[in-house]
Amino acid sequence: MFAAAVNLSASELRYRRLFEAAPDGILIVDLETRQIVDVNPFLVEFLGYSREEFLGKEPWEFGLFPDDEIGRTAFEELQANGFLRYDDLPLRTKHGRPVDVEFVSNLYQEGDQQIVQCSIRDITARKAAESALRATELKLAAHAAELESLVGHRTAELRLSNTQLEAFVYSIAHDLRAPLRTMQGFAELLVREYAANLPPQGRDFANFINQAAQTMDHLLADLLAFSQLSQQKIELVPVPLEAAVQSALAGCEEEILRTRARVDCLPPWPVVLAHPTTLRQVLVNLINNALKFVPAGVPPQVRIRAEGRPEEFVRLWIEDNGIGISPEFHERIFQVFQRLHTPREYPGTGIGLAIVQKGVERMRGRAGLESSPGAGSRFWIELAGAPAGLNSPRKGKEIP
Ligand code: ADP
Repeated sequence: MFAAAVNLSASELRYRRLFEAAPDGILIVDLETRQIVDVNPFLVEFLGYSREEFLGKEPWEFGLFPDDEIGRTAFEELQANGFLRYDDLPLRTKHGRPVDVEFVSNLYQEGDQQIVQCSIRDITARKAAESALRATELKLAAHAAELESLVGHRTAELRLSNTQLEAFVYSIAHDLRAPLRTMQGFAELLVREYAANLPPQGRDFANFINQAAQTMDHLLADLLAFSQLSQQKIELVPVPLEAAVQSALAGCEEEILRTRARVDCLPPWPVVLAHPTTLRQVLVNLINNALKFVPAGVPPQVRIRAEGRPEEFVRLWIEDNGIGISPEFHERIFQVFQRLHTPREYPGTGIGLAIVQKGVERMRGRAGLESSPGAGSRFWIELAGAPAGLNSPRKGKEIP
């Protein structure tokens, strides 16, 4: 092929070398005759036709510029615009192998001749990779959808068995209370009516029965409260935090007086979206804990304050000067029956914080704490702030 380059100038030779070595197909066509006048080795190799087979033929004989209406208008478009481009043109090689090319042609005036230079890039591998990628993406999407429906199905199953379990706990706790009351009542009667007939050890035994029955009654009452929280329908209404805090403090009044606690409530008090009874239950549990978990002989100091803006989440803090909690227990203590102390050190059932967690979750909120041993605890709950202007309870959103 280089034979044709014998009489070329140095710069012509340079471009000729480029033409011969280009890693894309190049085709030169005379616009007037529409015949191929030159072809580079890449295109010869790529489409499998010899150079001689190309020369003097029209491009659509090789599938380039298709031999149809589009092919004919292609030349007109080329003449009108000076260039033509197909991003993705399907071709067949001489041996019938399907290939895809990107085809760009430009029109040049050479003296009185109009020349079309076509550049043909093999994009078969890229297209195959793209379609493989698309197929993989489709498979992945199908897989993800399948997985999502499986998770949805399993979650629904879990929810159902959870609900059944909670209903079961509720009915057990409820049914156990009646015989327990009978035991407690008769133990009390025994001490009251027959104390004189009993030896001191007998009285002690009857008292133990009575105390154990009381502890169990508290436990069952807390279990009932906890399982009831999951069962009941909850309606969220705007609740002024000040009223909610005052109502909870009234419920803890006896304990506040007994422990000689100091309770500071610091305004401002935003309005939150909550279920009033559940919010009171949550606050009573948090305040009671703040009053309870102090070192022996130390009067509790409790600080209650809120932060946050209406229409965003409002965070209510209940801070104490108590014994504090090591960070590794911060998550665990919100689970049912998780206690860090024996009933002898601090009485309790280990259900209070589980009620707090479940209660705020049901009100679409969150709960947490900041605490370390000896530095007191700062428990918080977060609830949605009520939209401005909704300061009084009204019909709200029911949560199943
Ligand atoms: P209970 O109060 O009946 O023990 P809770 O579920 O309310 O059960 O609390 C779980 C545990 O978390 C408690 O036993 C205690 O160890 C710890 N805890 C809760 N509140 C406080 C607090 N304010 N200060 C220190 N420890 C606390």
